[in-house]
Amino acid sequence: MTFIVISILVEAVDDVSAVLDRARMAVSSGAALVEWRIDPIGEEPEAAAAVLRLVRESPAPCIVTCRSREEGGHFGGDDRDRISLLEAIGAAEHPPRYVDVELATYQRSRNLRQKVNLAVDHPSQVRDLQTGLILSTHDFAGRPADLMQRVEAMAAEPACRVIKAAWRARSLRDNLEAFDLLAERQKPMAAICMGEFGQMSRVLAPKFGGLLTFAADPDEGPTAPGQLTVGELRGVYRFDAIGRATKVFGVIGWPVTHSKSPQIHNAAMARVGFDGVYLPLPVPPEWEHFKATVGALVDHPKLDFTGASVTIPHKEHLVRFVEERGGVVEPFAAAIGAGNTLMVRPDGMLECANTDGPAVVGALACALAVEADGLRGLRVAVVGAGGAARAAAGALALAGASVVIFNRTIARAESLAERLRALRRADGSPVKVAAGKLDSLGCGCFEVVVNGTPVGMAGGPAPDESPLPDDMPLDDSVTVFDTVYSPRRTPLIREAQSRGARVIDGVAMFIRQAAMQFERWTGEAMPRAVIEEFERSAT
Ligand code: NAP
Repeated sequence: MTFIVISILVEAVDDVSAVLDRARMAVSSGAALVEWRIDPIGEEPEAAAAVLRLVRESPAPCIVTCRSREEGGHFGGDDRDRISLLEAIGAAEHPPRYVDVELATYQRSRNLRQKVNLAVDHPSQVRDLQTGLILSTHDFAGRPADLMQRVEAMAAEPACRVIKAAWRARSLRDNLEAFDLLAERQKPMAAICMGEFGQMSRVLAPKFGGLLTFAADPDEGPTAPGQLTVGELRGVYRFDAIGRATKVFGVIGWPVTHSKSPQIHNAAMARVGFDGVYLPLPVPPEWEHFKATVGALVDHPKLDFTGASVTIPHKEHLVRFVEERGGVVEPFAAAIGAGNTLMVRPDGMLECANTDGPAVVGALACALAVEADGLRGLRVAVVGAGGAARAAAGALALAGASVVIFNRTIARAESLAERLRALRRADGSPVKVAAGKLDSLGCGCFEVVVNGTPVGMAGGPAPDESPLPDDMPLDDSVTVFDTVYSPRRTPLIREAQSRGARVIDGVAMFIRQAAMQFERWTGEAMPRAVIEEFERSAT
């Protein structure tokens, strides 16, 4: 069993009532333990009384931590005073379940060690004490070179009941080491990677038998980088359902923090009762990072890494990776040279697909109320020559549309058109793809215009702009399809609507490509209720 610990920083002795209220809220939303981070008040004369009250009235069993500055906390006073405070608390009538002391402090002097040992239960304790000792080590810069020695030193201390090792992850691979430490643990243990790369270690602690995972107070923010809230752990990532056999999925990209994919895939897995969890998996842009990280995830013997969505800037890397590993690249992904879906079969064989293209075709056919073959002969302008545009142009051309690609950098539009012209439709006939100059986009000869650039995307290069030229004729004879899905109502969608054009927003495509991925991974259709809920919440 892995306990969610809500970590609460007590910033002033007068705050005791307020922080107790916050702890009650967190416990009512599912935290099993409270960590009172008393380091900001540790040097105050009234600290002991305040902490005794916190422990006595704590809404759940608690950990008392007075973290030193050297290990990321606020306490800058004398170690002896800090340990005396813990000693008084450990021996009180209402003691905490645990006190946390850094290994470095514990090892600093015999005297400190003895004082700590007086406050906690251990094999040679003569007093009847309940409080267990968490020995901890933290590194906010990266994995300490002597990590293994530190863990062994903590395990070897007879007074240590729980080992806690936390360091800032530099890549997703750090999490795998945390999982290996948990698998080999000699005592109850928490192995936590901090920062953006480390969320995996926080969410997957139950899979690897971690004793604790630390959660952030939603009002006050995290006490260590990368902490999720109890609501996110339990609501989005279904923490309570994660076990040893849970299959791991995720979205690989850079950046991925704001991806909506975890929301829809985790909700769908919950709904169909699939034992899986879907995580953001940040991988820096270079091929070497992609190859090393995804290789390590796929090869880890106990991770059960079963599939991933792959997004900017790794769609081409995915095809190369699967090819290099002797896997299967599905024909459409191979033809356009970009994949967005990785599947890891039980025998370890890799497969790669592209569901973006079929999602564009499906969303357009649905909006026009035709079957996919009803798109034959349709005159389509695709703006952009990156991953989304490539998938849209390729899939629409294969569906029989006559496609012209427009791009800011015309050379990229031309080379994409040339590549796509090599495609053959199911009946062997050639596809119709050309490249055009942006100033000819307004010729009035297109029935459908697809935006495959990030123009209009929140946080993108031009969030307030439309990718179309001002003289572009838009009326009810034109369908405007924006692949941007955040925000849902982009400047382009608003403009097209105001001029009477039919519009398709990026959410329609997003849901379709996600549903196709979900079906590949789980063998189940994405539940209607999940899709409807996602549509309702998309803004
Ligand atoms: P990408 O590979 O980086 O391609 C970006 C394209 O946009 C390039 O052709 C680039 O032109 C052009 N571009 C970038 N900034 C521009 C600007 N300020 N003005 C004009 N053109 C500009 O990106 P991507 O992966 O194709 O993604 C593009 C968009 O599609 C993103 O907003 C993404 O969210 C969306 N998307 C949506 C879905 C969905 O499910 N709804 C799926 C995939 C992608 P140059 O060649 O001149 O640089």
